Amino acid sequence: MRFRKTALQTMVLRVHELGLSTCPICKSNELQVARHPVLLHTGGMRHDSNQPKDPDENVIFMVRIECPDCGYSLLFNAERFVKSSEKIFINGLTEEEEAEQERSGAL
Ligand SMILES: [Zn+2]
Repeated sequence: MRFRKTALQTMVLRVHELGLSTCPICKSNELQVARHPVLLHTGGMRHDSNQPKDPDENVIFMVRIECPDCGYSLLFNAERFVKSSEKIFINGLTEEEEAEQERSGAL
């Protein structure tokens, strides 16, 4: 699973709107938005699939901003970066297949 290309573009714009253009540690201006989400498990976690799910258990999809020079990373809730109605994930398609489906209107 990865972020859709359009969602990534929105996230890059949002990062710049927030004023994040340089790494706060090494001052590199090459910050990158990772194409794969970080899944943040909150409110408990089952170690055995036979156990009932804790009602507080949740997974938050985070977008990772990483400095390629020093590795410093920041996480943001991906849902705060895009419209709630927007499909932000894609699964099982290459970037070329995604682009083709967007051109044909399938996505
Ligand atoms: Zn850095």
